Amino acid sequence: MSKEELNCSFCGRAKPQTQLLIAGLDAHICDKCILQAHGIVKEETSEEKTDHKFDVELYPPKKIKAFLDDYVIGQESAKKILSVAVYNHYKRINHSKSNSEVEIQKSNVILVGQTGTGKTLLAQTISKLLKVPLSIVDATVLTEAGYVGEDVESILTRLLQAADYDVEKAQYGIVFIDEIDKIARKGDNPSITRDVSGEGVQQALLKLLEGTIVNVPPKGGRKHPDQKFIELDTSNILFIAGGAFDGIERAINNRLNLQAIGYNTNKELEKVDSENILQYITPRDIRSFGLIPEIIGRLPVLTYMNPLDKETLSTILTTPKNALVKQYIQLFEMDGIDLSFTQGALEFIVEKALEYKLGARGLRSLCEAVLNDAMFELPESDVKALKVTKSYAEQRLVKIELPALKVVS
Ligand code: ADP
Repeated sequence: MSKEELNCSFCGRAKPQTQLLIAGLDAHICDKCILQAHGIVKEETSEEKTDHKFDVELYPPKKIKAFLDDYVIGQESAKKILSVAVYNHYKRINHSKSNSEVEIQKSNVILVGQTGTGKTLLAQTISKLLKVPLSIVDATVLTEAGYVGEDVESILTRLLQAADYDVEKAQYGIVFIDEIDKIARKGDNPSITRDVSGEGVQQALLKLLEGTIVNVPPKGGRKHPDQKFIELDTSNILFIAGGAFDGIERAINNRLNLQAIGYNTNKELEKVDSENILQYITPRDIRSFGLIPEIIGRLPVLTYMNPLDKETLSTILTTPKNALVKQYIQLFEMDGIDLSFTQGALEFIVEKALEYKLGARGLRSLCEAVLNDAMFELPESDVKALKVTKSYAEQRLVKIELPALKVVS
């Protein structure tokens, strides 16, 4: 048989009618049939994918806590409580697949603590460990349907996006709602400037937290009225809410004092660690702050974050797996520059972060300010090493004028 007489064994096309004809042992296949076959393979395997249920690996609490320890410094109590909550949450999911009559309720979490103490980082680290999608939303942008702002469903749009629109995966994801305290009812707390719509948002959140089927606009918002909604079941989504609850210490203090008066007591009072009053927080305090009881009931796991002291801040700067100092050393190394910090320089940065009440978030801005000149100048120079000393850091910061770094509280 001459070459020209060869045919595709699948469609019968002769070689001149094809762009490509590939020979097998006893047959030939043309480019068109390859493409068609590829389509079939893709379709078949993607069907298999939707049949396959997304599974989250179940880690026991101690393993979860150990992983958190690599990234989050301090916050022992929060890490322990969160590890148990996460473990129970995913155990509950496995349990609900069985036919037991006991229905285990969700363990959504509420984290109370100042900004920059690691609340978001905790949620991020859990999602990293479990390889589940995470959506981080700010409660302050949420409004009741019909008001200017984002509908509560937008939370789930972001989760879907984080899951690459894999619905199954999104349904096992984590939602971190930041600044939950800002949707507190105004009445009970004079420092909150929101109107009653805060309570409306709380009402809208209730169902989501509890578990319901929601029609989610995949592109979010009201800008795309024609989009087809995607149904998402929230019953297996873990919600973690965070908030600073500014001023809640007063409520806790009052309660502790009242308790102390009521009982025979001095001992009780003596035991109170007045430096860190948040550790005594109870759902009652959150309620007096203006979250409605139904919301508090749906965030049954309550824990607190410690304020970051000097020692913790300096550990944060140098120790976690992706500590800032390690990150900068790596960045400089990519330009062949050996970056190092003296102890004095590190202490200076920590002191500045404390002085300006920037918390851990401020460490980054401070490092950036200290190293910016070097990062600009050195890449094309002959310099092969940079040792950051206290006086080097001081000089750079004077230049930048720190008010720009101050966090408006
Ligand atoms: P929050 O959500 O409490 O406002 P974040 O989790 O966003 O604070 O923290 C801001 C940044 O500060 C994080 O990216 C992290 O680098 C750092 N950080 C805060 N707290 C800790 C901590 N306990 N351990 C390690 N890094 C921390």
